Amino acid sequence: MSNRNQQLFERAQRHIPGGVNSPVRAFRSVGGTPCFFTEGRGARVTDAEGKTYLDYVGSWGPLILGHAHPEVVAAVQSAAARGLSFGAPTELEIEMADLLCELLPSLEMVRLVSSGTEATMSAIRLARGYTGRDVLIKFEGCYHGHSDSLLVRAGSGMLTFGNPSSGGVPADLAQHTLVLDYNDPDQLAMAFAEHGERIAAVIVEPVVGNMNLIAPRPDFLHAMRHLCTKYGAVLIFDEVMTGFRVGPQCAQGAYGITPDLTTLGKVIGGGMPVGAFGGRRDIMEKIAPLGPVYQAGTLSGNPVAVAAGLATLRLVQAPGFYEALALKTQALCDGLCAAAQKHGVAFSARAVGGMFGLYFRAECPESYAEVMACDKEAFNRFFHAMLDAGHYFAPSAFEAGFVSSAHSNADIDETVAAAERIFDGW
Ligand SMILES: *Cc1c(COP(=O)(O)O)cnc(C)c1O
Repeated sequence: MSNRNQQLFERAQRHIPGGVNSPVRAFRSVGGTPCFFTEGRGARVTDAEGKTYLDYVGSWGPLILGHAHPEVVAAVQSAAARGLSFGAPTELEIEMADLLCELLPSLEMVRLVSSGTEATMSAIRLARGYTGRDVLIKFEGCYHGHSDSLLVRAGSGMLTFGNPSSGGVPADLAQHTLVLDYNDPDQLAMAFAEHGERIAAVIVEPVVGNMNLIAPRPDFLHAMRHLCTKYGAVLIFDEVMTGFRVGPQCAQGAYGITPDLTTLGKVIGGGMPVGAFGGRRDIMEKIAPLGPVYQAGTLSGNPVAVAAGLATLRLVQAPGFYEALALKTQALCDGLCAAAQKHGVAFSARAVGGMFGLYFRAECPESYAEVMACDKEAFNRFFHAMLDAGHYFAPSAFEAGFVSSAHSNADIDETVAAAERIFDGW
């Protein structure tokens, strides 16, 4: 059936708002009909029309080993056969916590949750409870999940408090959040000079993957660490996307900065719902039942989900895993840039570990404003041409892309060759 995706999309819209359970899946940004997937294996996914694509979304980051890795699937099957959930502690959760603390030196204690949103929401409550302060600093273009305090955009003046960026978020709540420019250490220093004694936490994506991909200027992260220490604010690295994706010690290892708290998700669940937040022991001991900050979850540390995460985290420890992944991701970016240049297309690309950004702009952007200035129409044309050719990229010009260990060099070459044919007729 050649229009099966369209039929499913129409049917989905009857009882699911917009036909999707998370908005970007609806293809609103690029137009057209979303693919309904039926199967994924390694680097490839198959849609309801039987068409196969090389996948550069990887479920938005979790699938660092590709789809349906046999060892991950076996771990899930074996855990499921022993019981889906207990709502009581299990040894698997200890293994997961021990492994996370061993792999990430900034973690002295960690708590498991079921999504990245829960991890960031809980880390912020904890930072507020620990400091006894309310003000939160975040950066325009960073996404930290969909909890109320975080759906805030910049106020009208540079250092004025924010406004809700979503319906249903009380303006009062946005009044506790300052939204600043990413990669601007001077502005951050001004915010601390003015409000320092009231700032509970700074939350940041150490490499941003939610406004396409933006790499941090090293002085930006260093200034942030310095200012948080000076003013007694909690530095939260939101590594839900970058965690075990950009390298074996996440972005904090790659850039040599130790945050006070870290949030994780995506890769640590290997495709199943797992999130985590952890960090300094003196902060983590403020959480219930040890301390006064409440946080809980019926399915937190779910054995089936944790089994998938543990299997994934063990497999990425293979010697050379991250080096090989980074080389392939870089090869994709280099190949696409060369193809564009050959045909005079204004295009740039950047890889950080196993994630990448594609920009219809001559130079890689370094700020939210520069990302917004990319040619969105050109991206949409590229997206649809690549989709037709069997290469699935994120359906938005403002999302990062992902390569998995299941992508072969031949897969990367195939994608670059398809892009070159498209740029040839540009
Ligand atoms: C995906 C993401 C989240 C939200 O995680 P969910 O599991 O979708 O709730 C939070 N922060 C960052 C940086 C993310 O990329």
